[in-house]
Amino acid sequence: MAARIIAGNWKMNGLAAALPEVAWIADAARDMTCVETVIAPPVTLLPRVAGHAGITPAAQDCHAADAGAHTGDLSAPMLAEAGARAVILGHSERRANHAESDVQVAGKVRAAWGAGLRTILCIGETEAQYRGGRTVEVLARQLAASLPEGATPANTIVAYEPVWAIGTGITPREDEIERVHRALRDRLASRFAQGGEISLLYGGSVSAENAASIFALQNVDGALVGGASLTAGKFVPIMNALA
Ligand code: PEP
Repeated sequence: MAARIIAGNWKMNGLAAALPEVAWIADAARDMTCVETVIAPPVTLLPRVAGHAGITPAAQDCHAADAGAHTGDLSAPMLAEAGARAVILGHSERRANHAESDVQVAGKVRAAWGAGLRTILCIGETEAQYRGGRTVEVLARQLAASLPEGATPANTIVAYEPVWAIGTGITPREDEIERVHRALRDRLASRFAQGGEISLLYGGSVSAENAASIFALQNVDGALVGGASLTAGKFVPIMNALA
């Protein structure tokens, strides 16, 4: 069975003053034996997040190379040394703001695995693709091109994040989420030996209000949460809904 995981993506948010939130989230996480809690803070806070038992510290991106002339970038071994145990890759904000292609994302996934980091691979359709009924086709293409050979439940988590649901307060219908997750589970199971056990997270406007009904859906193993992960007051109720 796929592991149940709740992951918080802090994006470019959080100064040291936000660290008490991490401590409160860690307190709650330690009580949840069946759920893994991941926090992806900005890199500046990564070593301090890594100091909290109960939380899996994650980065939000990495370079595909281990070292070199890439001003401003960080490699997977550097992130591992700073305390990361996982890394979010292929987030739609990186795909849109930095023109990251599936091929580039696949290179980053390989680099992450090489450094011992688990990858949280994000895939998702745009609103136009959703309205055009192309969701599963787009996701299948992204999954095929951005997830290299060698994916296992130990090194990979897949997050389905409709681009139009991120930060909008809007989510797909529950039957749509279930249908997409079924399709992703089938594809992963047919491509990789243990692919059916890779955790599948839903992401996009998850809140304390909708979390329980999303987590009750078949093949939803947890969530990748943006805005609502920034404070324990909003994130812990979502964690509790999965526990
Ligand atoms: C995200 O950016 O990964 C995300 C899911 O954001 P939000 O929860 O704010 O929609």
